[in-house]
Amino acid sequence: MCMIDLVDWTRLGLYVVGAVLGGLVIFNLVAGYYHLRYYVLRKDNPESWKIQDKRFLTPRLARSAFLLTNFNMTLGGLVTGVLIYAMTEGMPTAIYTDVDEYGWPWLIASVPLLFVLNDAGAYYVHRALHHKWLFKNIHRHHHRYVATSPYVTVAVHPLELLALQTSSFLPLFFIPFHAGVIGAVLVYILVFNVVDHSGVRLVSKLPWQGPSMYHDDHHTQFHCNFGQHLMIWDKIHGTLRRQKRSYGKDVFGGRGEAEGEEAETPDFVRYP
Ligand SMILES: [Zn+2]
Ligand SMILES: [Zn+2]
Repeated sequence: MCMIDLVDWTRLGLYVVGAVLGGLVIFNLVAGYYHLRYYVLRKDNPESWKIQDKRFLTPRLARSAFLLTNFNMTLGGLVTGVLIYAMTEGMPTAIYTDVDEYGWPWLIASVPLLFVLNDAGAYYVHRALHHKWLFKNIHRHHHRYVATSPYVTVAVHPLELLALQTSSFLPLFFIPFHAGVIGAVLVYILVFNVVDHSGVRLVSKLPWQGPSMYHDDHHTQFHCNFGQHLMIWDKIHGTLRRQKRSYGKDVFGGRGEAEGEEAETPDFVRYP
């Protein structure tokens, strides 16, 4: 029997369609909510809610963001569906489905652990993407959208999506995470990524969650604020936006350029 006959195509198809549709529905519900609530219903007074209140995507860029994001969500769902199928066929991972296997204390502790691992991965992959060559060839696609909008969230080069997905799935092969924990953490990350790209001035009640301005500044200043949700990685590595520093597309390195006679290292910008 050849390899192709060994594949249960119906089951594979079900997993792929389920993962693709699940991702597309969740993403478009959240993005559509922010789009409708602000960009449609409050479009006449952007100064009351928009971070970059004078800057909007051109209709052409808005259309490209919408299409590219949905293309990438589909690609991400496809990869996820295939991986789920491979797992059910015996691909070794550390994922488990029976809570009793590791107990409730581990299940609860594993939620922040997976979140932090994912966030660290996102920081380092993103920071690598700001290396000159990778930025000019791959990551610039995301930075075409200086004005953010909910649909800019996953408007990235497909290779960037695959790199981010790899870093986010990697821990699942080594550390036991419950399937439900993985689903919940991934949905959380997706939802807050939309919030961070919404372009709307939002501050979360969750103390670990950076405000939307933190990533919005990344789009206007380019090479600083590489983190996803937690600002700690940028603080540790000194790449959080600093006061009295100038940034821009050609100022690589994450620390900006000193303005005037700035001798000492200036303070980080204080986000709300
Ligand atoms: Zn970037
Ligand atoms: Zn972004």
